[in-house]
Amino acid sequence: MTPLPDDPITHTPPRTIGLIGGMSWESSALYYRILNEETKARLGGLHSAEVVLLSVDFADIARLQAEGRWGEAGERLADAGRRVEAAGAEVLLLCTNTMHEVFAAVEQAVAIPLLHIADATGARIAAAGLRRVGLLATRFTMERPFYAGRLAEHFGFEVLVPDEADRQTVHDVIYRELVLGEIRPASRDAYRAVMERLITRGAEAIVLGCTEITLLVGPEDATVPLFDTTRIHAEAALAFAHAGQAWKREG
Ligand code: GLU
Repeated sequence: MTPLPDDPITHTPPRTIGLIGGMSWESSALYYRILNEETKARLGGLHSAEVVLLSVDFADIARLQAEGRWGEAGERLADAGRRVEAAGAEVLLLCTNTMHEVFAAVEQAVAIPLLHIADATGARIAAAGLRRVGLLATRFTMERPFYAGRLAEHFGFEVLVPDEADRQTVHDVIYRELVLGEIRPASRDAYRAVMERLITRGAEAIVLGCTEITLLVGPEDATVPLFDTTRIHAEAALAFAHAGQAWKREG
C-alpha cells in the first residue's frame, strides 16, 4: 500500500482555533480557508487546521445591531464563546470587526485568549511604519469609538473615516451586497473613489475594517497599502496556535 504523504505524527499539534462566525458566513468561509491553507503551508503533507466554528444566524445579530441592542448582542456572543471553548478551542476569534463592540463581554465569558482584530491589524500597520490610516467599515465601526479609539490608544494612529455620504455608501454595500455574496463592479468603483478621497486627505494606508471588504477590493484598487483584517486576524490566530509547538515538516 502506498503510504499517505505524511509522517507519523511527530509534532506537538498546533492549538485548536475557535471561531465565532456567521457575521457573515461569507467572511467566515474566508477565515476557514486561510486557516487551513496556511496550516498546510506551514506543516505540509495532509495537515489542516483544527478548528471549532460556531456560526450564528446573522439576521438575529444584524437586527440587534440596527436596534442598538448591544448588550443583548454581547450576551449572545458571550454564550457562543462559552460553547466554542467547551468544544475544545484554545484560542478564540470573533470573526467580524463590528462585533468587537462587545469584545469585553465575550472576553469575560471565556478563559481562553480572545484575539482582538484591531490589535492584530494595528501591530501589522505599525510594523510597516505607517500611522495615518483610513478606515472602511460598517457605520458602527466607523462611527463608534471602540475601533478607531483602540487604534489611536494602542498604536498612536490617526484614523481618518470617510465623510457622511461615503460612510453611507460603504455601509450599504456591506449590508446589501457583500454579506449576501454579491460582488458588483460598480461598488468596487465606488470603494476605489472613497479610498482615493481618504488618500487625498493624507491616509498612508487603508484598513479594510470589515471582514467582507476583501471580497470586493484588493491591493490593485488603491495607491497605498491595504490592510485586510480578515487575513491578518486569521494569521494572528495561527501564530498563537503554533507558538512554542514543536513540529516536524515532512520531506
Ligand atoms: N463582517 C463585518 C465586519 O467585519 C460586518 C458584519 C457585522 O456586522 O458583523 O464588521
